[in-house]
Amino acid sequence: MSNWLEEGWRHVWLPYAQMQTAPLPLPVARTEGSGIHLEDGRVLIDGIASWWTACHGYNHPHIAQAVAAQLARVPHVMFGGLAHEPAYRLSTRLAALLPAPLNRVFFTDSGSVAVEVAIKIAVQSRLNRGERGRTKILAFTGGYHGDTFGTMAICDPEEGMHAMFTGLLPEHPVIPLPRDGASTAAFDAFLEANAHTLAGIIVEPLVQGAGGMVLHPPQVLRHLRRAADAHGLTLIFDEIFTGFGRTGTMFAFEQAGVAPDIITLSKALTGGTLPLAATIATDALFEAFLSASPATALMHGPTYMANALGCAAANASLDLFEREPRLAQVAAISAQMAHELALCRALPGVVDVRVLGAIGVVELAEIANPAALRMALVAQGVWIRPFRNILYLTPAFTISPDELSRLCAAIFRVLS
Ligand SMILES: *Cc1c(COP(=O)(O)O)cnc(C)c1O
Repeated sequence: MSNWLEEGWRHVWLPYAQMQTAPLPLPVARTEGSGIHLEDGRVLIDGIASWWTACHGYNHPHIAQAVAAQLARVPHVMFGGLAHEPAYRLSTRLAALLPAPLNRVFFTDSGSVAVEVAIKIAVQSRLNRGERGRTKILAFTGGYHGDTFGTMAICDPEEGMHAMFTGLLPEHPVIPLPRDGASTAAFDAFLEANAHTLAGIIVEPLVQGAGGMVLHPPQVLRHLRRAADAHGLTLIFDEIFTGFGRTGTMFAFEQAGVAPDIITLSKALTGGTLPLAATIATDALFEAFLSASPATALMHGPTYMANALGCAAANASLDLFEREPRLAQVAAISAQMAHELALCRALPGVVDVRVLGAIGVVELAEIANPAALRMALVAQGVWIRPFRNILYLTPAFTISPDELSRLCAAIFRVLS
């Protein structure tokens, strides 16, 4: 075992892990493309692009050069009162990628905080206009929006551990997505009765990621847009997972033909290199914060807000989306996964196989021992992280057809 691992293991605290039983993580020596090179010389093909971030593969030279150049020039300066080119250029580029009214970009350093800011904008924009009592955000069962207390309160009640933190979490309504006749009727009735308490609605468009890669059709988003308009609610699309090509279009909402009032972005924003997030709001919401009084300003400002290295990485990542055929690569990945993962349908215990863009899911009746399954996958030379009752692939868009075949085959073999 590496010395640093052995020594540090007594001090680190891992994410989402029962530390009493957590297996020792695999020490990584370096990364390249879709390859994770372990200290012991093994190379794993990464099936999940490091929690959905590394969309161009690891160590893309264009991003590396942009970050190195920025590091030599200005690694970071405070965003209050000082400006740097990467953040201003990135704001302009993000606004240009999004529908016209989504014009104002607020940078933070993680997805959860981007969602916190979205909630704050939705609620405070009303308070600034003297509208009281509309402080709730309607969220959906199966949803995931982050791990901070504000965002836990709009996660699925089980996932967000609402029960454990009763009294500490703000209370927001969480109901089923309007995806069929009964749930749509219930959703409509809920709004009729409760819209006067709501500031907005938040949803992960097309796919609830951390909730188990559960898909819903674009008409669900159109219904949410219609309902939000009818009741004067701020519609928030959390595209932290789905943004930047993952579902087959640059943003998932494009497939529904409706735009949100606020969009949150993070994960693939920097191509998987640096922590950065953005909350982008319409001009109308922004204008609700304008007045002669400091009291109506948006009071938020992370220390590392709009970190120049992160913004340089994000600009370089956007260059790659412009120069390289990323969406065509996603379409090819999608077709290949649909074909190759379909073989798993015949296996015992498999209840569903589904694909959307560069997201491929094999759903099982249950996964009794995720750690053992993960080790079996590592033995096959792949890095895939089973959770809940699913095995899923969210590879880099630059993965080769051969590497992708090896990922699909590994899933088939461990399940056989
Ligand atoms: C990952 C994720 C978040 C939280 O982002 P962090 O950077 O982990 O705080 C929020 N919403 C969605 C949809 C996510 O996938």
